Amino acid sequence: MAIVKEERKKGAVKIRDVHTPEPGNGEVLIRVKSTAICGSDLHAYEYPNGYEFMKIPVILGHEYSGVVEDLGYGVTLFKPGDRVMGESNRYCGICPNCRSGRTNICDRNLMTGLHIDGGMAEYISVPQNLVHHLPISLSYSEAAVAQPCSVSLHAVFDNSSIRPGDAVAVFGPGVVGLMAAQGAQVLGAAEVVLIGTAADARSRLPVARSLGLKTIISEEQDLLEAFAGHTGRTRADVVLECSGAAEAIRDAVKLVRKGGSITLVGIYGSPANVFFSSLVRSEIYVRTSYTATWKNYEQSMQLIASGLVQVKPIINEYPFRDGMQAFADALAKKALKPVLNLDD
Ligand SMILES: [Zn+2]
Ligand SMILES: [Zn+2]
Repeated sequence: MAIVKEERKKGAVKIRDVHTPEPGNGEVLIRVKSTAICGSDLHAYEYPNGYEFMKIPVILGHEYSGVVEDLGYGVTLFKPGDRVMGESNRYCGICPNCRSGRTNICDRNLMTGLHIDGGMAEYISVPQNLVHHLPISLSYSEAAVAQPCSVSLHAVFDNSSIRPGDAVAVFGPGVVGLMAAQGAQVLGAAEVVLIGTAADARSRLPVARSLGLKTIISEEQDLLEAFAGHTGRTRADVVLECSGAAEAIRDAVKLVRKGGSITLVGIYGSPANVFFSSLVRSEIYVRTSYTATWKNYEQSMQLIASGLVQVKPIINEYPFRDGMQAFADALAKKALKPVLNLDD
């Protein structure tokens, strides 16, 4: 059984039987236990412009965990029965970026579940260099969301300048923003404020508050006043832009202090109209962050296992057979991060 995008049109996603893949040389065959639905799976469902590159039919999903079932020739790092999860991007390993450790911006990157068959299936075969062992106390459903968590931690740990005691603002209370905010707390930020829209007020901002974060509704509150009210600071030392809304970049510029930094993590649907002179005059440091590297996956699993990053309030669990309902709930914004569990 697998969740397959079958045709080049909106919808056309079905649960159906597929062949079990054979592990190739150096590959690990994983029996999937949990797999999560991500925004890019919803895009694959909707099939907007820009997704023509997809292999069709394709098994969706790039967030998955499971048990090693079988090994291809030459696998040395894993054995059958190992509890594992796999990375989302199949990087080439030989381009200059890969060879300097920046596999997240590989020149020949293939995205699992879009370019190649993904993890919303009973089995997936994955090169061993993309597979990670799970910490003992990490559940399969938590491990399935270690992938989006690694994206947040790459932004916070590798591409932001958060120092202990900082006041941090996070735009976008989606999965990546909620985990980035917790990553900022791990680095010792004294104040972390999540900024969302009125549409986020019903479900996402309450989740943020349950995680001990302060929240602002951008349309209903004056940004600077509300931020000062929460933190006692006039501006943020660091802003993490995780919403993907181009207007949020302008708000980020308004909110950051002179000499502060902004990290852009969102994927923007339209160009942002930003007047750069104000950034220049205030020496604002603007950085970007995209996906994650091997080390971020390890960090993400360790921090979730230790409870320093909480994912339970973020996920909604479904049996795999209810996968299409989970897609519907995610598209209707009734579920923030659906995780589909396969039976034993
Ligand atoms: Zn994802
Ligand atoms: Zn590469």
